[in-house]
Amino acid sequence: MSKIAIIGAGAAGIEVAAILSQQHDIDLFEKEATPLCNIRNKALLFPDFTSADELADRLEEKLKNPRITTHYGTAITGLRKVQDGWQLADATGGTYEAGYVVLATGYEVFDAHKKEELGYGIYPGIITSLDLEKMIKAGKVTNSIGDTPKSISFLQCVGSRDEKSGNHYCSKVCCVTAVKQAIELRKMMPDVSVYVFYMDLRMWGQGFEEMYRTAQEQYGINFVRGRISEAAATYDQRVQLKAEDTLMGVPLNMNTDLLVLMVGMCPSAGTAQLANAAGIAGRYNFAQSVSEHLNDNLTGQEGLFLAGACKRPMSVNDTIQDARAAAITILDKIS
Ligand code: SF4
Repeated sequence: MSKIAIIGAGAAGIEVAAILSQQHDIDLFEKEATPLCNIRNKALLFPDFTSADELADRLEEKLKNPRITTHYGTAITGLRKVQDGWQLADATGGTYEAGYVVLATGYEVFDAHKKEELGYGIYPGIITSLDLEKMIKAGKVTNSIGDTPKSISFLQCVGSRDEKSGNHYCSKVCCVTAVKQAIELRKMMPDVSVYVFYMDLRMWGQGFEEMYRTAQEQYGINFVRGRISEAAATYDQRVQLKAEDTLMGVPLNMNTDLLVLMVGMCPSAGTAQLANAAGIAGRYNFAQSVSEHLNDNLTGQEGLFLAGACKRPMSVNDTIQDARAAAITILDKIS
């Protein structure tokens, strides 16, 4: 049995498939009907405002290799070691065998309904960063009654670095995503006022700090160090915020047209389920590699490899680089 099965047709799964298919037959499984849903949900990518669809198209092109067999709409729900490889089971009871498996099941965003005090799903003016990204992509951002907003506020670290949700980790990409979205809003609607409420801004990547400066100096975006403790609707369908400016040491009450919750990255349901089934679940149900320093694509299970954000929050760029590292690791192990 020498076939390679890759679970997940996001950026990681496709990049691994593209490289390995130069020498091996690949079965690529994806629970959705189409690949690259997380990227296609985005409008532009940080830090250079590259079109997400353009990147997705280029990645999809890589699947045009007859050695890759795609299985879209196939949710792999079971994964177990068999004598000379792995057996995969799908949600309808179908089974597949492979000598090697790559888990590339990625992430999903934190479910903001779990933070009841922030009113997501209760007050229509409260949306997530994913909801906003879809509006930006559609070219029209409106408040809850369909008008052009005059003021939009962001709240960082929703479902990350958070005792109550149990997610103590930083999701890594939401600070820069908020800065990117804030700039996009000011480009679309030059009259809108934008406020970003943060604990601390983590602009770790090349070009990120410059984006942050541009956001302040060129686009007049207001960064407020502080937390929003409560959000509620006003009689005219705006959003009332109770916050604290921790730099000034003063409480703040303000009204805004839209409150955007910057939701963090969590392991996808598939990541949690399959990592547990294979005995490689790590912290927070992300998949655990052997060593983050030296063997970050290997698992403690023979023939089972990891690629991308199934391990921890990652940017799209880092995901693609990690997938390439996974492909090299796999080629090294199986050749
Ligand atoms: S990247 Fe920023 S917003 Fe996201 S969890 Fe980390 S500090 Fe919070």
